[in-house]
Amino acid sequence: MRRKLVAGNWKMFGLKADLPEVSAIAAAAAANPGVDVALCVPFTLISAAAKAAGAMPVGAQDVHASPNGAHTGCVAAPMLVEAGARLAIVGHSERRAAQHETDAEVKAKAEAAHGAGLQAILCIGETLEERDAGRAEAVVTAQVAASLPDGAAGSWLALAYEPVWAIGTGRTPTEADVAAMHGAIRAKLRALIGAEADAVRILYGGSVNAGNAASLLACADVDGALVGGASLTAAKFVPIIEAAA
Ligand code: PEP
Repeated sequence: MRRKLVAGNWKMFGLKADLPEVSAIAAAAAANPGVDVALCVPFTLISAAAKAAGAMPVGAQDVHASPNGAHTGCVAAPMLVEAGARLAIVGHSERRAAQHETDAEVKAKAEAAHGAGLQAILCIGETLEERDAGRAEAVVTAQVAASLPDGAAGSWLALAYEPVWAIGTGRTPTEADVAAMHGAIRAKLRALIGAEADAVRILYGGSVNAGNAASLLACADVDGALVGGASLTAAKFVPIIEAAA
């Protein structure tokens, strides 16, 4: 039985003035021990957020594939660990699009995260053009195959299916489409890593909110949610945590 994981992605939002939101979200996490909760904040906030979060894991939204080196402006996994991070998102579609991250780079980033002792949430998802062309499952399962890290295991890796057209738009796929895609991802995982596939959590992400969380989380093979905009305040995020509990 996979425990549900609800992870927040604060994107490029969050100053120290927002730490009371972290504390309030952590209090809700403690009050709902049946669900795992994590919050991925900007690099600059990791240390302070980790202190404010108590037992709730705080993470980063990216990590470099190398442990150190001449990579101006980048942050390595051991640095994240030292700052207090316990997980990292890799391969978010905003980075795949704006920073041109490839599947091979995303794979290397996930492996670097694991090598330093971080959990990883690896994002995959199709564009609207790809869905309209009937290629959504082919695109997403190809991303899984090409970006899955060596040694992938449920103890440290979760996947997040995030249709690009659903992120920050208020649009979501139908429950049938979510269940079909998560089933296809699970089947691809089984083909790649055998029985371990059943231990890997597959999160849904894309315009999850208090109103739709329960129905999305009830879909077959949905093991939690990756939440952007609705994770920025406890008022919006706590109902999603409660829906998963
Ligand atoms: C995300 O940033 O991963 C995300 C799913 O954003 P939103 O919930 O705002 O669509």
